[in-house]
Amino acid sequence: MDALIIGAGVSGLTTGICLAEAGLAVTIRTAVPPENTTSVAAGALWGPVRVGPEDRAVTWAQTSLEVLTKLAAEPGTGVRMASGMEVTRTEPDLPYWSHLLPSMRLCEPGELPPGFAGGWHYTAPLATMPVYLGYLRNRFTQSGGALEVSPVGSLNELAGTATVTVNCAGIGARDLVPDPAVYPVRGQVVIAENPGIEEFFISRDEPEPSTIYMFPHGTEILLGGTVEENDWDLKSRPHTSERIVANALSIEPRLRGARILEHRVGLRPCRPEVRLESEPLGDSVLWHNYGHGGAGISLSWGCAAEIASRITA
Ligand SMILES: Cc1cc2nc3c(=O)[nH]c(=O)nc-3n(C[C@H](O)[C@H](O)[C@H](O)COP(=O)(O)OP(=O)(O)OC[C@H]3O[C@@H](n4cnc5c(N)ncnc54)[C@H](O)[C@@H]3O)c2cc1C
Repeated sequence: MDALIIGAGVSGLTTGICLAEAGLAVTIRTAVPPENTTSVAAGALWGPVRVGPEDRAVTWAQTSLEVLTKLAAEPGTGVRMASGMEVTRTEPDLPYWSHLLPSMRLCEPGELPPGFAGGWHYTAPLATMPVYLGYLRNRFTQSGGALEVSPVGSLNELAGTATVTVNCAGIGARDLVPDPAVYPVRGQVVIAENPGIEEFFISRDEPEPSTIYMFPHGTEILLGGTVEENDWDLKSRPHTSERIVANALSIEPRLRGARILEHRVGLRPCRPEVRLESEPLGDSVLWHNYGHGGAGISLSWGCAAEIASRITA
């Protein structure tokens, strides 16, 4: 085995694809299958939010934007280009990454729901995560990669197993490394029947732990959500779901009576900075690729490409 990857969320699968497509023999070991990871709970709209450092994040995000935009043009990937707006209750200030999106513009006052002072409208890749993770998994195995559901007890037990090990353990890195700098930011979302909404909507400056967002995925719509720091609870909370639906209804009356299909919870692997660096592991090399916070999908291709180019250089 040339490369062993720990983790089958979006970071592990994307890194696996980049290494396998570069000709390496790659195995992924994961504690849970892709459909049970944090990644499946994501919205998942491109945008480097809740992640640092800004200079590296914007570079990784740009590469990922290019790849995701291409995937949006291919059938069956679960990615599409979606338009919508992010609004604010205070003076709008365009995000630091807005220059990457040519469609980005400030909203006209008439476009805003009542109670909002401004916002910006743009088009970006949006992934339906259960479909997108399935696409990534298939692409990985079709490139010759193997996926084993088998937790890794410690990094040291892996020394000598592969030439290169890549740690894409998400929040699991906190215990595995161990790295106390990575901490969970819990996100709960509700999947409802989509009454015909086509544009996404985001309001982040709600009283914590709430945010309000809606990401339409064909016949379904993902309603969010929460940002609960250091909360490890993976069970969905009924009163939180009720609040999420009520908040969404206050913006979008078409949701009245929409059937609730599912509840999802994920733990964003937040860290002051993404950890993307290597260190020795016995006679082999260990790469770290974790700590992507609220932007794991948005950075995935950039981080994976950087590791692949360094490993295969
Ligand atoms: C509600 C919500 C909304 C979000 N919205 C967006 C969005 O719109 N856009 C965006 O870009 N991002 C979004 N995010 C963030 C994004 O989901 C994460 O940054 C991303 O999923 C992290 O992916 P990952 O592969 O690094 O980690 P994970 O998906 O958590 O995967 C970690 C993997 O490591 C494995 N693992 C852990 N420990 C071990 C071990 N000891 N042995 C073996 N395997 C192990 C796990 O089993 C799992 O397979 C959102 C997150 C949430 C919760």
